[in-house]
Amino acid sequence: MAEASIEPREGHGALGAAPFYRAVSDECSVFEHAYRQRLPLLLKGPTGSGKSRFVEAMAHRLGRPLVTVACHDETSAVDLLGRYLVRGGDTFWQDGPVTRAVRQGAILYLDEIAEARPDVVVVIHPLTDHRRTLLIDHHDEVLSAADTFMLVVSFNPGYQRGLKELKPSTRQRFVALSFDHPGPDLEAEIVVGETGIDPKTARRLAGLAGKLRKLDHLGLAEVPSTRLLVDAAKLIVSGMAPRRACEVAVVAPLSDDAEVTAALGEVVALAL
Ligand code: ADP
Repeated sequence: MAEASIEPREGHGALGAAPFYRAVSDECSVFEHAYRQRLPLLLKGPTGSGKSRFVEAMAHRLGRPLVTVACHDETSAVDLLGRYLVRGGDTFWQDGPVTRAVRQGAILYLDEIAEARPDVVVVIHPLTDHRRTLLIDHHDEVLSAADTFMLVVSFNPGYQRGLKELKPSTRQRFVALSFDHPGPDLEAEIVVGETGIDPKTARRLAGLAGKLRKLDHLGLAEVPSTRLLVDAAKLIVSGMAPRRACEVAVVAPLSDDAEVTAALGEVVALAL
């Protein structure tokens, strides 16, 4: 599979401005303790609940480079470890993102790890215990992780919606933190911090999200995340009418069903 499709992103760590992250609980302290004790971390929670932003903010705070891999159902061990490439008649080895992160002592974030192929979990197991090693079969190499290396994985426990589960034996290898939708005051604060929108409108948006999240009977596959609220707020800051902004940024992404979107639209009209 193509190297580009695993989307490794680097450089969100030590350099540049600190990413905006509003702590919800004691997660920053848990992360720091896990980092100091060289323990791997599992972040559980729905999409858009701030997991990636949290990791970016912590990498910055700890002054470590961050390597992020967005896993999907075709992500394999080879994609992560590396492969031999042939160029101009020469064959050379190219590290994959996990190998690179282990070599440089970076923070490695495997987003949605349960979606990856099973051989990915086999590869990371020796990195999660006292061995802290990476076995690169194809390159005949065993790498010991630098002291500053940390493995962070995320997982969306949504198996009832057809998402994959993480095996209990794998879960037990991690210190785990749960993420969820923040309460209305905190969510309004996040929306203001992220977009600069006026606090009154931010509170209305957060109130709207709270109402939409209670509409169980509509059978939505996912309830609106903070990410959708941030998007709506950006459109409002850009000059769009709040109601229309919520229709296109919050309601339309959630459902294609005309009756459901009409019901959601009514809630928007009452809230804004
Ligand atoms: P996840 O990785 O859980 O899918 P993200 O970290 O990408 O979610 O969060 C989506 C967006 O929501 C972020 O880009 C940011 O705008 C916003 N967000 C959510 N939670 C927070 C938070 N606690 N602090 C700052 N921004 C947040």
